[in-house]
Amino acid sequence: MMWALAPEGRPFKLAHDFRLLKLQVGLRAHCYHYPVTDPAPTAIPRHLTTVFLDRDGVLNKKMPEPRYVASWADFHILPGVPDAIARLNRAGLRVIVLSNQRGIALGLYTAADVEAIHSAFQRILSSNGAHIDAFFICPHDRGQCNCRKPLPGLFHQATAQFPTIAAASSVMIGDSLVDIDFARRLGMTAILIDSNSEHARPGDESARALATLCFSSLPEAVSALLDIR
Ligand SMILES: [Mg+2]
Ligand SMILES: [Zn+2]
Repeated sequence: MMWALAPEGRPFKLAHDFRLLKLQVGLRAHCYHYPVTDPAPTAIPRHLTTVFLDRDGVLNKKMPEPRYVASWADFHILPGVPDAIARLNRAGLRVIVLSNQRGIALGLYTAADVEAIHSAFQRILSSNGAHIDAFFICPHDRGQCNCRKPLPGLFHQATAQFPTIAAASSVMIGDSLVDIDFARRLGMTAILIDSNSEHARPGDESARALATLCFSSLPEAVSALLDIR
């Protein structure tokens, strides 16, 4: 029902919620396996200030399992990503990357390798008038820390550096269940990039079911975020 889309605790605002409704109708086209029907965290925050981005599968092409992005040669930027980040920057939004990099714990590459990849990526972004405000990575193996998504450590690292960040005025955009789970544990709007790629993974269906919204690429998600503000 249409009015069920209005977030709890405030009256239905026609212009805003109608755009949200359009979005939700739109998302069914992508999340056709699992239409998102739970209205609990539906809304994109009305005072959005921070966009958290997962890295692999959102900004750059995810390597087929079990491979990792170990060097710049493995970092293939997805279509439209620099422009999408530039649009977020121009809208005055803070853009922060949160990435699990278990490959460091596995000895496949080092933290310095990851920093080199991110520096090279920033140079590409810069030539497109875009920038990432900060990168936070978890270098640990499973069960070793509080910062491997879906645990909240990377969010707390971000709020330590940027004290005005709040979950209620942020969104998380990711391509995996861990990203969606991370966001929901923090009460944050969770946006799934569901590219319906050839590499279906366990958890994909759950991610679709639990995501607030679902798009097939970062540029599409950014268009929706900026349209609804
Ligand atoms: Mg990912
Ligand atoms: Zn960690």
